[in-house]
Amino acid sequence: MTETDARPTRLTIPQYAMALAHVASLRSEDPFRKVGAVAFDFDNRVIGTAYNGLAPGFNAATEFWDDRDDRRKFMIHAEVNLCSLFTRGNVKLVACTTKPCTSCMQMLCAYGVKEIYYRDEYAESEADAIAGLYSIPLIQLRDYPLIVSPFDVPDEGQSPP
Ligand SMILES: [Zn+2]
Repeated sequence: MTETDARPTRLTIPQYAMALAHVASLRSEDPFRKVGAVAFDFDNRVIGTAYNGLAPGFNAATEFWDDRDDRRKFMIHAEVNLCSLFTRGNVKLVACTTKPCTSCMQMLCAYGVKEIYYRDEYAESEADAIAGLYSIPLIQLRDYPLIVSPFDVPDEGQSPP
């Protein structure tokens, strides 16, 4: 959170980013975990948004989604799709609706991302250790304007604080 922005009527940059990441998550075709992400450049301009899903142009049969564990290896994470939109060194901030997994955190470091915000915890991730080693702020942010969605599952970490 930026503490320099004292105006209560304006979203902070991280809040703005998380709201956009949340909207992007609503486009995910994954019925189990919808993840959205957004990248800002050094002028706080949106480079792009992304969400988790299958490779572009691939349309899965309905039964593809029945086996959650089996389909996981095919899912392209939101951060991977996001990094396909920019080159190394062009991004200051990334916001993700779920804490990046270990692999995605490594990738965000490789792309030179300077600060990362996430909403939901992801217990299996080693992102905290990676962020600590490389001195990259990895900050949980939940106080942003909630976008009402028909896909949200109550009590799954998406309610306002
Ligand atoms: Zn990931």
